[in-house]
Amino acid sequence: MAEDANEALLYAARNGCLQGVKDALKAGADIDYEDDEITALLHASINGDVDIARLLLRQGASVSKRTKQISCGPLHAAAGNGHTEVVKLLVHHGATLAVRDAYQRTPLMVAIMYKQVDTGRQLIELGARVDLTDDQGVAAKRYCEFYMKGEDLDCARKEMLGLIEEALKTKLLRCCNPTCGKPGYRSTLKLCAQCKLTRYCSRDCQKQHWTVGHKKSCGHDAYTGNGPDPLYLKLTRLRIAYQNSLQQT
Ligand SMILES: [Zn+2]
Ligand SMILES: [Zn+2]
Repeated sequence: MAEDANEALLYAARNGCLQGVKDALKAGADIDYEDDEITALLHASINGDVDIARLLLRQGASVSKRTKQISCGPLHAAAGNGHTEVVKLLVHHGATLAVRDAYQRTPLMVAIMYKQVDTGRQLIELGARVDLTDDQGVAAKRYCEFYMKGEDLDCARKEMLGLIEEALKTKLLRCCNPTCGKPGYRSTLKLCAQCKLTRYCSRDCQKQHWTVGHKKSCGHDAYTGNGPDPLYLKLTRLRIAYQNSLQQT
C-alpha cells in the first residue's frame, strides 16, 4: 500500500493538490520518493507551489536530492522558473546557495539563463556568490550579457549587471544562516569545515543553520551524478562555441 501512497504523493505534488499531498503523507508515503528522478519537492519547486513546498519542507523533505543527469535540485528548479517565494523557503530550510548542477552552474546562473531578474535579485540578497564560474569558466556576469539580450531586456540586464558589479566590488559575502544574513568578508566569515560551501558570522549561526537543514545538505551538494546526457553536452558545446565567436567579434 505504501507504494500507492508514494505514487499518490507525486501525483498530488505534480498537480498542485495540497490536500492530496497531506493525504498521501498520512497514508505513509516516503516524502523523498522519486519517479523519473523527480521528487514531490522538485515538482513543487518547478510549479512554484509555495504551500506544498512549505508542507514538504516542514515534514523533512530533502533539499539536496537532485536529478542524476543534470543534477538539478529544488533550488535550481525554483530559480530557473522564477519562483522567488519557493527559493526563499528552500534557503530557509537549509538549501545551499552555492549548490552546482552537472555544469557547475549555481542557481543564480540558472535564474539569469531564464531571465528571472526578481529571483536573481533575491538570490544575491540572500548571499549567493557572484564570483563562481561554471565548468567553462563563465561567471554570472557573462551569463547576463549572453542570455539577457534584446531591447526588451535592456532594463533587466542593466539591473542584474548592476547588482553583480556591486557584489563584486564590495566583495561582501553573507552569513549563510538565512535568519541572520549578516554581510562579512571572506576573511571574517567562518567556512563550514565539512562541505566548505557555507559561511557563518558566528558559531551560533552555524549551529542554527545546522538544525534548520544544513545538517541534511552538508556534503550532499557536490555533483555526483552519472554525467549529463550526450544531447545536452552537444548543446552546451554549441553554446560555448557561439559565446566564443561573439567574444572575438
Ligand atoms: Zn550570522
Ligand atoms: Zn557544511
